[in-house]
Amino acid sequence: MNPNACILIHYHEISLKGDNRRWFEKVFKRNVRTQVKPLPFTSVETKAARVFIFGVDANRWNEYATELKKVMGLMNAHLMHSVEPEMDAMKAMATELIATKKFETFRVSTKRQYKNFPFTSQEVNQEIGAHLQPICNKRVKLKGADLNVVIELVNDKAYIGVDKIHGYGGLPVGTGEHAISLISSGIDSPVSSFEMIKRGVSLSYVHFHSAPATSRQSIKNVERLLEVIAGYQIKCDLYNIPLLAIQEKIMETAPSKLWVILFRRAMMRMAEQIAEQIDAVALITGENVGQVASQTLSNMRATADAVERPILRPLAGMNKEDIINRAREIGTYEISIEPYEDCCAFFVPIHPETRANLEEVREIESSIDMTGLYETAMENVEKLTIGGK
Ligand code: ATP
Ligand code: MG
Repeated sequence: MNPNACILIHYHEISLKGDNRRWFEKVFKRNVRTQVKPLPFTSVETKAARVFIFGVDANRWNEYATELKKVMGLMNAHLMHSVEPEMDAMKAMATELIATKKFETFRVSTKRQYKNFPFTSQEVNQEIGAHLQPICNKRVKLKGADLNVVIELVNDKAYIGVDKIHGYGGLPVGTGEHAISLISSGIDSPVSSFEMIKRGVSLSYVHFHSAPATSRQSIKNVERLLEVIAGYQIKCDLYNIPLLAIQEKIMETAPSKLWVILFRRAMMRMAEQIAEQIDAVALITGENVGQVASQTLSNMRATADAVERPILRPLAGMNKEDIINRAREIGTYEISIEPYEDCCAFFVPIHPETRANLEEVREIESSIDMTGLYETAMENVEKLTIGGK
């Protein structure tokens, strides 16, 4: 094990945060530490707007990379080997590193924060490149090289590496406030949750089920999805809420074209009650303009009217293909496409309203006797905690 192996991390927007920067860095470092906890390291430190994980086991880089990919705010991470900031030492290390790689073209990319170093970044690129070229006998290519030998001169050390991952960027989880995400076991809401986590927001989740009219499979699928998503925020709480009695009452009284909107209003209200209990300030959904009949602007307005908290819809303007790609990338797609009976899909009428009239929705809703139904549903909420390291 190379005792000088470390991981050098560049973070994303944290550096734009002015006075709050120290706090953002602190939360970021804490999240890095938590994610790499199962792996060996000696310390996590900030130096010159970079975060270093010292004392890592270079042979387990792939495992660190998997964990670090889950840290929001991370722009990229390099496996590095530190040497004295002298040309000869740098050449020797670069030679050793490229010997482990297969490539046809390469380049050297230097960043110099250590201004006392007697060469410019460009000079280092040229000198190290010229040294490596006859050794490997491969071509230098500045754009799109197979192998990038990265050198960073930070404080009084040189860090050299050839392994790198890109993160999702964004902001560290815990720097945003707390919100409730309404999660189904479909494709969209896990992605919308991820997009909010990426902005630093801590999420708790509510899922509505229609058991026993539908199987409890949707609950199982949501739990599995949250095991994936919890990876990005470390751990989270899920509130499973029974919706069936409320749905039955709505279906008994209201015209079928308004069922879905009325179900949604009921969901929003109960999600807001949970938000109230746990001090969450916003609600998140996976709605996407025009994707299905229930997701027109008029219907979103008619739904949003039921609650006072802002509803954020991070996928509102995305195309389905991009949402699916994102779901694949974050690891939720395969679970989302498994068959299940959704609480709303199960009761969807043939001709749902596509342009709800808010006044009409309010009027019909007020004519339904909901006495005791919300209270009973809220008394039967099942809470569980998912994830954690
Ligand atoms: P998804 O893929 O997230 O299920 P969708 O395209 O199927 O979304 P809808 O079924 O109309 O769309 O649901 C819109 C949004 O309402 C969902 O993204 C989710 O935020 C919320 N939602 C729908 N069903 C449930 C449920 N059973 N429990 C909690 N939230 C739900
Ligand atoms: Mg759905």
